[in-house]
Amino acid sequence: MSLAGKVALVTGGSRGIGRAIALALARKRAKVAFCHPGDPAAGATLSEIQGLSMGMEQTADVSDEAAVEAFFDAATDAFGPPDILVNNAGILRQSPLAKTGVEEFDRVIAVNLRGTFLASRAFVRRAQAGRIINIASDLGILGREEMSAYTASKGAIIALTRTLARELAPNILVNAIAPGSIETDMTSPASMSPEQLAKDMATPLARFGQPEDIAAMACFLAGAESNFVTGQCFGVNGGSVMT
Ligand code: NAP
Repeated sequence: MSLAGKVALVTGGSRGIGRAIALALARKRAKVAFCHPGDPAAGATLSEIQGLSMGMEQTADVSDEAAVEAFFDAATDAFGPPDILVNNAGILRQSPLAKTGVEEFDRVIAVNLRGTFLASRAFVRRAQAGRIINIASDLGILGREEMSAYTASKGAIIALTRTLARELAPNILVNAIAPGSIETDMTSPASMSPEQLAKDMATPLARFGQPEDIAAMACFLAGAESNFVTGQCFGVNGGSVMT
């Protein structure tokens, strides 16, 4: 189904899963604005989007309230009020609890959770109706040793999704996607220890997913096919979590 005329904002859209989502939405004719904290790859991603639809990019750290508001203002000025928000920006840090500093913990929570809150609030302040799609993680359900801040942030995003789905109904539908291991710069099999790789491969499908697998679910949640879907968390994970 076409998203022609819709305005979609994607946080962390310069590379990885966010880039795949931005391109997939543009392929469906949505006007796509994405932000990133200063990624040199952003220009190339923007050119690809503009080859498909209208696009813009802006440097904005999602943990920074003023930067998020400025990103939404710029996108609204360029394309009109937003219809779709994909809260994708995220960072992962791995360290044993005893060695995890407060600054490291706070930074992960600030980007992953505060960023999702700030962008959702900016969206609600400008949108009459629409969709919020939050990128969580299967690790927010399963837990993972040495990833306390990351897993806590992702579990909280799932809880926030349910609250916002109730609060913003019926005009704004809010859902989450909890990806399993997806091959990106964040999670590349080449950079993993054999033990970590074995854990990530221990699923029924026994392989990594691709960013496009997540983009397909995001397009479903952005379009009219999901008109009766809200407050859900979809596992796109090769079977790592079954509920
Ligand atoms: P990635 O390849 O590292 O890309 C992350 C994107 O987010 C980049 O565009 C990055 O921009 C941007 N970003 C980082 N910090 C930001 C900030 N403070 N403000 C705005 N943008 C920021 O990661 P990915 O694998 O595509 O992950 C995307 C999302 O999926 C994340 O929320 C992640 O937790 C989630 N996820 C990933 C996996 C996986 O296996 N890959 C699994 C489950 C969930 P820069 O390039 O400038 O840093």
